[in-house]
Amino acid sequence: MSTTYDEALANYEPVFGLETHVELGTVSKMFCGCGTTFGAPPNTQVCPVCLGLPGSLPVANAMAIESTIRIGLALHCTIARWCRFARKNYFYPDMPKNFQISQYDEPLCVEGYLDVEVGDSVVRVGIERVHLEEDTGKSLHVGGSTGRIHGATHSLVDYNRAGIPLVEIVTKPVPGTGALAPEVARAYVTELRETLRALGVSDVRMEEGSLRCDVNLSLNRVGATEWGTRSETKNVNSLRSVERAVRSEIERQSEVLSAGGRVVQETRHFHEDTGVTTSGRSKEMAEDYRYFPEPDLVPIAPAADWVESLRDALPELPFERRRRLREEWGISALDMQAALNAGAVAAIESTVAAGASPRDAYKWWMGELARQANERGVEVSTLPVTPSDVARISVLVNDGKLTDKLARQVLDGVLACEGSPDDVVAARGLEVVSDDAALGAAVDAAIGADPDAAQKVRDGKVAAAGALVGAVMKATGGKADAARVRELVLERLNTDA
Ligand SMILES: [Zn+2]
Repeated sequence: MSTTYDEALANYEPVFGLETHVELGTVSKMFCGCGTTFGAPPNTQVCPVCLGLPGSLPVANAMAIESTIRIGLALHCTIARWCRFARKNYFYPDMPKNFQISQYDEPLCVEGYLDVEVGDSVVRVGIERVHLEEDTGKSLHVGGSTGRIHGATHSLVDYNRAGIPLVEIVTKPVPGTGALAPEVARAYVTELRETLRALGVSDVRMEEGSLRCDVNLSLNRVGATEWGTRSETKNVNSLRSVERAVRSEIERQSEVLSAGGRVVQETRHFHEDTGVTTSGRSKEMAEDYRYFPEPDLVPIAPAADWVESLRDALPELPFERRRRLREEWGISALDMQAALNAGAVAAIESTVAAGASPRDAYKWWMGELARQANERGVEVSTLPVTPSDVARISVLVNDGKLTDKLARQVLDGVLACEGSPDDVVAARGLEVVSDDAALGAAVDAAIGADPDAAQKVRDGKVAAAGALVGAVMKATGGKADAARVRELVLERLNTDA
């Protein structure tokens, strides 16, 4: 931890808030029937409505409204009985209507929370609102070296994204997390992403922009009652960046304040390469979007019994699921956190379902397989091994057909796409030598080759048996059960004595 960070925390209390935009995975757009496939050739998924041509009229996507209500319910929100869309008026080249259909003072879902686990503790993050709006198009700046507008010779606009349903989830300010603020912010986005994934409402790919975060941060002087001025860091596009953006803003604002300066209310940009934010647009002057109720759309008035049926049909949510699994597996909150961070929870669960003990399943996925994934720089769940392969290997170990060492070789074979665990055992000849006659011969040979060690064992120095066991293991290519070999060595030397 840097001194700047420690000093900042000694003098100030960070308060963060997160605004998360989620592109819903609906087949069609929010207010027209255009497709929503990511990566389609530019301007091939457009029509008069999403191009904002005069005379075209929007029709709300029922599935998007349903998904938003389900998100609100999962976040323990109150669902509005009646609310309206609003026009947010501003000019942006990739927003063809010159207004965005959004929600303003009548959001669909309000006043909820999401519980977030950090280490052994649970932090309840308040949710202020969840509302529905449409995404904008995308500008492409051409001719410069960085892809940014500075230095570009011209810009191109792709309207494929214009009108894709976008849900905005806004937290309440989160005070009181101190030095853990960056971690809690990251854990919140992680938990939110898992929750949205469980709901099946979005593919939540941060790298493709279907989940984007803005980080608000302010510092209060310790003990002060008034809250500091906040900055808003835009489009923070990975979990790691969320953590880094919070940390870097804590350090930056603390330096500004400690030098007697004041924090300016502004939009800032996060730089992935350096991990710091730079100044963008000042927000000292309140922007006037001239919001008014969207006249082309009827209000949304979800029937109470429909909302209740959506609530009843919610899947088990990740927080509760992890709690249940933790009890079933008998592991600590920290171990579960590690499995979650490694993206291994589902794989462990399936491995248990395929017949492994929870302890073995956890050990394989978080041990050998996590190591292999780390070496290859991939997520553990993407390794070419199935939960049933892992369960089969653990059964073979428990039946005494494989030692741990042999099991790792079998796993190597499976990862090298040589077939199922049984195929690899057969092809590589990896089964444990459990035939006492064969082992006996190897033990006799080892005793014959090392009479000194044998004599020590006969004299009662049992530790000397290690050398003989080692020799047998070497002679059998590591395929013998070491405990059984030891038994045989001791048996033979005692009776011979
Ligand atoms: Zn369209």
